[in-house]
Amino acid sequence: MSLLVVGSVAYDSVETPHDRRDDALGGSATFFSIAAALFHKPSLVAVVGDDFKSEDVDTLERAGVDMSGLERSAGGRTFRWGGRYSADMNNRDTLFTELNVFEAFKPKLSATHREASLVFLANIQPTLQLSVLEQVGCPRFVAADTMNLWIGGARPALLEVLSHVDALFVNDSEALELTGALTMVAAAAEIRAMGPELVIIKRGEHGALVFNGDDIFYVPAYPLEQVIDPTGAGDTFAGGFMGYLAETGDFTPENVRRAAVVGSLMASFCVEGFSVEGIARLTLDDVRRRYAAFLALTHIDALAL
Ligand code: AMP
Repeated sequence: MSLLVVGSVAYDSVETPHDRRDDALGGSATFFSIAAALFHKPSLVAVVGDDFKSEDVDTLERAGVDMSGLERSAGGRTFRWGGRYSADMNNRDTLFTELNVFEAFKPKLSATHREASLVFLANIQPTLQLSVLEQVGCPRFVAADTMNLWIGGARPALLEVLSHVDALFVNDSEALELTGALTMVAAAAEIRAMGPELVIIKRGEHGALVFNGDDIFYVPAYPLEQVIDPTGAGDTFAGGFMGYLAETGDFTPENVRRAAVVGSLMASFCVEGFSVEGIARLTLDDVRRRYAAFLALTHIDALAL
């Protein structure tokens, strides 16, 4: 099944308690598509400026991403984002967001991209997500991601997006902000009432909650000794999840659970390096080994009473 992602391709400047990187390859569509490509070739639609390096295009192509939808805006500067993490890496402050070429971006999907079966509207202005929705034909499955910037600043457009998608990926704090609810279960119910049948609430090192119709599933995060850089973990989760679904073509609740575990494991690889270092050279065997370790870690027998 063909898989399309529209989102940001960026240069990120990231500070952790131990280290920092300036202008490293990032962006919601970048992390998503590199993770997805391990399972199923995704097509990326985004815009960059003249300053975008050819070696970064190579990194995405080498990972197996179809880059025919990458637009280069002459005279423009690539989107930039800066963030600083707390000592325990569980919180971050956004230091700056420069939309640059995204301010005037009007995604134009090719005839092939319009036919996509699975579509991921990665974190980007909701108006751009809507313009993509208007162009796609009749996809089997559409998911979206968002962030506090749009929940607070572009709420009407975001609600319009939600009314048209099958799934929403969202952080726990954003889920509460979006709904005004006090618990994750209540927030998920309210989000489902806004449109998406499937709601995935990401909780960083505490894993993710998957609300899929009547099925509620908790997937822990794979425990790691050291986290280098959490940037992109959410997009990488979504990339693993949707790449796996696109490859298997199986949307049953059992397979959606497996997809969530794949997403969680991909996120664990992501945070083991800066930028895309943790995921760009992964193999399926790396994922299979971690999946087996995850099964051993979480296996439990029935109650012996
Ligand atoms: P995550 O850590 O999964 O929330 O994703 C971080 C990525 O999102 C970074 O690589 C940023 O470049 C990108 N990003 C941050 N803010 C925005 C925004 N307002 N629009 C689009 N992408 C963004």
